[in-house]
Amino acid sequence: MKPKGGKCVGLEASRARLIDCLRQEIRDKRVLSAMAHVPREFFVPQDYYCAAYEDMPLSIGFGQTISQPFIVALMTQALGLKGSEKVLELGTGSGYQTAILAELAKWIVSIERIHQLAESARQILGKLGYTNFEIHTAGEALGWPVGVPYDAIIVTAGAPHVPDALLEQLVLGGRLVIPVGSRWEQDLLKVTRRKKGNLVESLGGCRFVPLIGKGAWEE
Ligand code: SAH
Repeated sequence: MKPKGGKCVGLEASRARLIDCLRQEIRDKRVLSAMAHVPREFFVPQDYYCAAYEDMPLSIGFGQTISQPFIVALMTQALGLKGSEKVLELGTGSGYQTAILAELAKWIVSIERIHQLAESARQILGKLGYTNFEIHTAGEALGWPVGVPYDAIIVTAGAPHVPDALLEQLVLGGRLVIPVGSRWEQDLLKVTRRKKGNLVESLGGCRFVPLIGKGAWEE
Protein backbone atom coordinates (compact mmCIF):
# COMPACT_ATOMS: atom_id res chain seq x y z
CA MET A 1 0.00 0.00 0.00
CA LYS A 2 1.27 3.46 -0.87
CA PRO A 3 0.61 6.42 1.46
CA LYS A 4 -1.75 9.13 0.24
CA GLY A 5 1.01 11.68 -0.39
CA GLY A 6 3.82 11.64 -2.92
CA LYS A 7 7.50 11.58 -2.15
CA CYS A 8 8.86 13.61 0.69
CA VAL A 9 12.58 14.20 1.04
CA GLY A 10 13.64 13.75 4.64
CA LEU A 11 10.62 11.82 5.89
CA GLU A 12 12.76 8.95 7.18
CA ALA A 13 15.13 11.39 8.89
CA SER A 14 12.28 13.25 10.60
CA ARG A 15 10.84 9.92 11.70
CA ALA A 16 14.17 8.88 13.29
CA ARG A 17 14.43 12.30 14.97
CA LEU A 18 10.95 11.98 16.43
CA ILE A 19 11.64 8.52 17.86
CA ASP A 20 14.90 9.82 19.39
CA CYS A 21 12.96 12.63 21.08
CA LEU A 22 10.32 10.22 22.38
CA ARG A 23 13.06 8.00 23.82
CA GLN A 24 14.00 10.80 26.22
CA GLU A 25 10.56 10.82 27.86
CA ILE A 26 8.97 7.43 27.18
CA ARG A 27 10.36 4.44 29.08
CA ASP A 28 8.13 1.61 27.82
CA LYS A 29 10.16 -0.12 25.10
CA ARG A 30 7.11 -1.78 23.55
CA VAL A 31 5.48 1.63 23.12
CA LEU A 32 8.64 3.05 21.54
CA SER A 33 8.90 0.18 19.10
CA ALA A 34 5.21 0.52 18.12
CA MET A 35 5.75 4.26 17.54
CA ALA A 36 8.78 3.44 15.37
CA HIS A 37 6.85 0.82 13.43
CA VAL A 38 3.46 2.38 12.61
CA PRO A 39 3.64 4.66 9.53
CA ARG A 40 1.95 7.92 10.65
CA GLU A 41 2.11 9.27 7.07
CA PHE A 42 -0.71 6.86 6.13
CA PHE A 43 -3.05 8.51 8.64
CA VAL A 44 -2.54 12.21 7.84
CA PRO A 45 -4.21 14.10 4.98
CA GLN A 46 -2.17 14.37 1.79
CA ASP A 47 -1.35 18.04 2.39
CA TYR A 48 0.40 17.20 5.66
CA TYR A 49 2.28 14.18 4.37
CA CYS A 50 5.69 15.82 4.83
CA ALA A 51 4.77 16.88 8.38
CA ALA A 52 3.79 13.34 9.43
CA TYR A 53 6.71 13.05 11.86
CA GLU A 54 6.58 16.54 13.33
CA ASP A 55 5.63 16.26 16.98
CA MET A 56 2.31 18.07 16.65
CA PRO A 57 -1.39 17.43 16.11
CA LEU A 58 -2.64 17.83 12.53
CA SER A 59 -6.10 18.52 11.15
CA ILE A 60 -7.92 15.47 9.74
CA GLY A 61 -11.07 17.33 8.65
CA PHE A 62 -14.53 17.55 10.30
CA GLY A 63 -12.96 19.90 12.90
CA GLN A 64 -10.94 16.98 14.37
CA THR A 65 -7.21 16.28 14.75
CA ILE A 66 -4.77 13.39 14.78
CA SER A 67 -3.06 13.60 18.19
CA GLN A 68 0.52 14.74 18.73
CA PRO A 69 2.88 11.70 18.70
CA PHE A 70 4.29 12.47 22.17
CA ILE A 71 0.78 12.50 23.65
CA VAL A 72 -0.08 9.24 21.85
CA ALA A 73 3.04 7.62 23.34
CA LEU A 74 2.39 9.06 26.82
CA MET A 75 -1.24 7.93 26.92
CA THR A 76 -0.38 4.49 25.56
CA GLN A 77 2.40 4.03 28.09
CA ALA A 78 -0.03 4.92 30.89
CA LEU A 79 -2.33 2.06 29.83
CA GLY A 80 0.44 -0.39 30.83
CA LEU A 81 -0.32 -2.87 28.04
CA LYS A 82 1.42 -6.26 28.07
CA GLY A 83 -0.22 -7.89 25.04
CA SER A 84 -3.22 -9.82 26.36
CA GLU A 85 -5.64 -6.93 26.91
CA LYS A 86 -8.94 -5.96 25.41
CA VAL A 87 -8.82 -2.17 25.00
CA LEU A 88 -11.61 0.34 24.38
CA GLU A 89 -10.70 3.54 22.53
CA LEU A 90 -13.07 6.52 22.31
CA GLY A 91 -12.27 8.79 19.36
CA THR A 92 -10.87 6.70 16.50
CA GLY A 93 -10.25 9.84 14.42
CA SER A 94 -7.57 8.99 11.86
CA GLY A 95 -7.03 5.49 13.29
CA TYR A 96 -3.37 6.18 14.16
CA GLN A 97 -3.76 5.61 17.91
CA THR A 98 -5.82 2.50 17.08
CA ALA A 99 -2.87 1.11 15.09
CA ILE A 100 -0.49 1.74 17.99
CA LEU A 101 -2.90 -0.06 20.33
CA ALA A 102 -3.32 -2.92 17.85
CA GLU A 103 0.47 -3.44 17.99
CA LEU A 104 0.42 -3.69 21.78
CA ALA A 105 -2.79 -5.41 22.90
CA LYS A 106 -4.89 -8.41 21.89
CA TRP A 107 -8.11 -6.76 20.76
CA ILE A 108 -9.13 -3.14 20.20
CA VAL A 109 -12.69 -1.83 20.21
CA SER A 110 -12.58 1.71 18.83
CA ILE A 111 -15.55 4.10 18.76
CA GLU A 112 -15.94 7.22 16.59
CA ARG A 113 -18.84 9.70 16.35
CA ILE A 114 -18.16 10.74 12.77
CA HIS A 115 -19.09 7.98 10.38
CA GLN A 116 -16.73 9.10 7.58
CA LEU A 117 -13.71 9.08 9.93
CA ALA A 118 -14.66 5.62 11.23
CA GLU A 119 -14.90 4.32 7.65
CA SER A 120 -11.62 5.85 6.52
CA ALA A 121 -9.76 4.55 9.62
CA ARG A 122 -11.22 1.06 9.06
CA GLN A 123 -9.92 1.07 5.50
CA ILE A 124 -6.40 2.28 6.32
CA LEU A 125 -5.98 -0.18 9.20
CA GLY A 126 -7.23 -3.01 6.99
CA LYS A 127 -4.81 -2.10 4.21
CA LEU A 128 -1.94 -2.00 6.70
CA GLY A 129 -2.84 -5.57 7.67
CA TYR A 130 -4.35 -5.11 11.12
CA THR A 131 -7.00 -7.70 12.00
CA ASN A 132 -7.33 -7.36 15.80
CA PHE A 133 -9.69 -4.40 15.92
CA GLU A 134 -13.31 -3.39 15.44
CA ILE A 135 -14.49 0.17 14.79
CA HIS A 136 -18.05 1.30 15.52
CA THR A 137 -19.91 4.55 15.05
CA ALA A 138 -20.78 5.90 18.51
CA GLY A 139 -24.24 5.13 19.85
CA GLU A 140 -26.32 6.88 22.53
CA ALA A 141 -24.27 5.64 25.47
CA LEU A 142 -20.65 6.67 26.04
CA GLY A 143 -18.20 3.89 25.21
CA TRP A 144 -19.29 0.48 23.94
CA PRO A 145 -21.23 -1.32 26.68
CA VAL A 146 -21.90 -4.48 24.64
CA GLY A 147 -18.19 -5.33 24.67
CA VAL A 148 -17.61 -5.00 28.44
CA PRO A 149 -15.45 -5.44 30.41
CA TYR A 150 -12.27 -3.79 29.12
CA ASP A 151 -8.79 -4.06 30.65
CA ALA A 152 -7.96 -0.52 29.60
CA ILE A 153 -9.84 2.47 28.16
CA ILE A 154 -8.29 5.40 26.32
CA VAL A 155 -10.26 8.54 25.49
CA THR A 156 -8.69 10.80 22.87
CA ALA A 157 -11.13 13.70 23.34
CA GLY A 158 -11.51 16.00 26.35
CA ALA A 159 -14.27 15.43 28.94
CA PRO A 160 -15.67 17.83 31.60
CA HIS A 161 -15.18 15.12 34.29
CA VAL A 162 -14.35 11.41 34.52
CA PRO A 163 -17.52 9.73 33.19
CA ASP A 164 -18.91 7.05 35.54
CA ALA A 165 -20.28 5.27 32.47
CA LEU A 166 -16.70 4.56 31.34
CA LEU A 167 -15.39 3.49 34.76
CA GLU A 168 -18.22 0.94 34.85
CA GLN A 169 -16.91 -0.59 31.61
CA LEU A 170 -13.48 -1.31 33.15
CA VAL A 171 -12.35 -4.44 35.01
CA LEU A 172 -11.17 -3.93 38.61
CA GLY A 173 -7.53 -2.88 38.36
CA GLY A 174 -8.15 -1.59 34.82
CA ARG A 175 -6.81 1.80 33.65
CA LEU A 176 -8.76 4.69 32.12
CA VAL A 177 -6.64 7.41 30.48
CA ILE A 178 -8.65 10.54 29.73
CA PRO A 179 -8.15 14.32 29.31
CA VAL A 180 -10.41 16.15 31.81
CA GLY A 181 -10.98 19.89 32.05
CA SER A 182 -12.55 22.69 30.00
CA ARG A 183 -13.45 22.56 26.32
CA TRP A 184 -10.06 24.11 25.50
CA GLU A 185 -7.56 22.79 28.04
CA GLN A 186 -7.39 19.63 30.06
CA ASP A 187 -5.35 17.64 32.54
CA LEU A 188 -4.44 14.18 31.33
CA LEU A 189 -5.64 11.71 33.97
CA LYS A 190 -4.92 8.07 34.59
CA VAL A 191 -7.65 6.50 36.70
CA THR A 192 -7.16 2.98 38.06
CA ARG A 193 -10.43 1.32 38.99
CA ARG A 194 -10.38 -0.08 42.53
CA LYS A 195 -13.00 -1.70 44.74
CA LYS A 196 -12.91 1.29 47.06
CA GLY A 197 -11.71 4.74 45.95
CA ASN A 198 -10.27 4.80 42.45
CA LEU A 199 -6.64 5.91 42.12
CA VAL A 200 -6.31 9.15 40.10
CA GLU A 201 -2.92 10.32 38.78
CA SER A 202 -2.18 13.38 36.67
CA LEU A 203 0.11 13.03 33.64
CA GLY A 204 0.20 16.77 32.81
CA GLY A 205 -1.62 19.38 30.72
CA CYS A 206 -2.98 18.78 27.23
CA ARG A 207 -5.41 20.09 24.60
CA PHE A 208 -7.96 17.85 22.95
CA VAL A 209 -11.11 18.40 20.93
CA PRO A 210 -14.25 17.89 23.06
CA LEU A 211 -15.75 14.49 23.83
CA ILE A 212 -19.37 14.83 22.74
CA GLY A 213 -22.25 12.86 24.23
CA LYS A 214 -24.22 11.84 27.27
CA GLY A 215 -22.01 12.39 30.34
CA ALA A 216 -19.62 14.63 28.38
CA TRP A 217 -20.02 17.88 26.32
CA GLU A 218 -23.00 18.96 24.26
CA GLU A 219 -22.35 19.29 20.56
N1 SAH B 1 -7.01 9.26 18.33
C1 SAH B 1 -7.34 10.11 17.22
C2 SAH B 1 -7.73 11.48 17.72
C3 SAH B 1 -9.01 11.89 17.15
S1 SAH B 1 -9.63 13.44 17.73
C4 SAH B 1 -6.18 10.21 16.26
O1 SAH B 1 -5.04 10.08 16.69
O2 SAH B 1 -6.41 10.43 15.07
C5 SAH B 1 -10.96 12.90 18.75
C6 SAH B 1 -12.08 12.16 18.08
O3 SAH B 1 -13.05 11.87 19.05
C7 SAH B 1 -12.79 12.92 16.98
O4 SAH B 1 -12.65 12.23 15.76
C8 SAH B 1 -14.25 12.98 17.46
O5 SAH B 1 -15.19 12.85 16.41
C9 SAH B 1 -14.31 11.80 18.41
N2 SAH B 1 -15.36 11.83 19.42
C10 SAH B 1 -15.89 12.90 20.08
N3 SAH B 1 -16.84 12.48 20.94
C11 SAH B 1 -16.90 11.12 20.85
C12 SAH B 1 -17.68 10.10 21.49
N4 SAH B 1 -18.60 10.37 22.41
N5 SAH B 1 -17.47 8.80 21.12
C13 SAH B 1 -16.56 8.48 20.18
N6 SAH B 1 -15.81 9.40 19.54
C14 SAH B 1 -15.97 10.70 19.87
